[in-house]
Amino acid sequence: MNFFGTRDFDAHEQVVFGYDQATGLKSIVAVHSTVLGPAAGGCRMWPYATESEALTDALRLSRGMSYKNAMANLPFGGGKAVIIGDSRRMKTPELFQAFGRFVDSLGGRYITAEDVGTTTEDMEEVVKATRFVSGLARKAGDVGGDPSPKTALGVFLGLKAAVKHRLGRSDLEGVTVAVQGVGGVGYHLSGLLAGEGAKLRVADVRTAAAERVRDEFKATIVPVESVLSEEVDVVAPCALGAILNSDSIPRLRARVIAGAANNQLAQDQDGAALLAAGILYAPDYVVNAGGIISVAREYYGGTEAQVTTEIHAIPGRVMEIFERARRENRPTNAVADQMARERIGRREQRLVA
Ligand code: NAD
Repeated sequence: MNFFGTRDFDAHEQVVFGYDQATGLKSIVAVHSTVLGPAAGGCRMWPYATESEALTDALRLSRGMSYKNAMANLPFGGGKAVIIGDSRRMKTPELFQAFGRFVDSLGGRYITAEDVGTTTEDMEEVVKATRFVSGLARKAGDVGGDPSPKTALGVFLGLKAAVKHRLGRSDLEGVTVAVQGVGGVGYHLSGLLAGEGAKLRVADVRTAAAERVRDEFKATIVPVESVLSEEVDVVAPCALGAILNSDSIPRLRARVIAGAANNQLAQDQDGAALLAAGILYAPDYVVNAGGIISVAREYYGGTEAQVTTEIHAIPGRVMEIFERARRENRPTNAVADQMARERIGRREQRLVA
């Protein structure tokens, strides 16, 4: 088995398997980089079909957290945990306490939080076994809590920067935006956009979520199948990853893509396809960092005002990427990845797969 030279391994500092016989915990923690601080990233609980799929997910997500944290100027490296299992059937307090002991055994090299399939309530069990956890249930007056509104604010500011760069517009009055997925982040983003006069077209597989945004923000509901190819100025993907691919890119009619979803590009070269099509792509991990900024303040201490100030630094970073990409005629995702790697002192590695 070839492992260390593969694309997904990407020079991870440490990958640890955690097993607890009593609770059935099967977990993997991937620590990509601790150059800028302890590796921080949430814990995903998912019924992976195979253990190798779980490992691949942990590695890709962990590298993504290195880039996100570095570009958000946070004193965090990048890491991620996965728990193999069905979050609807296999959760017990004891399982998350065992996971907490596993995290604790790493002595602070990895800090966990909630992610897909885990919640603040689960983290309240984890904290019984380790202090290396954030994203806990919020008490009145505390910083932290639900990250979605913070993520939405960062995406909104990043989207405005992209509109300014590509459309030459400083305001959003009459600008048309298609939002794919109006859950936690998409709902709040829609409110911010409507508040500045943008015209919304929204799609969600949950009819009630789309109807709520229609009723509250005068959005038009469009079919889930065609939301990405709407004739709009901006598409904001806020649901799934890998939605920008060789199938969808030729059908895009927007000139700007800026949204919250993680890993929007199916492959790195899809960034080049967007550039060739004249579409400006705001790199996902740069604009969706509001949530991790809030988590960082919760972990290290701070105020909501500091979180807001730090989120307002996102559009400046996005503009820097756009300017550099224009100067060098390179895809924005390639420029962002290079900037992130420079910050964590990583060279491109030689790849065998
Ligand atoms: P969420 O689950 O609350 O919302 C996602 C919404 O997308 C749901 O309403 C769901 O019904 C809808 N959806 C699913 N498949 C769809 C499809 N094919 N077409 C249209 N709608 C679809 O999740 P969220 O917290 O709002 O996160 C949205 C995205 O942003 C995710 O990719 C997440 O990883 C990413 N993200 C979230 C945060 C955060 O703070 N919540 C931070 C960074 C990145």
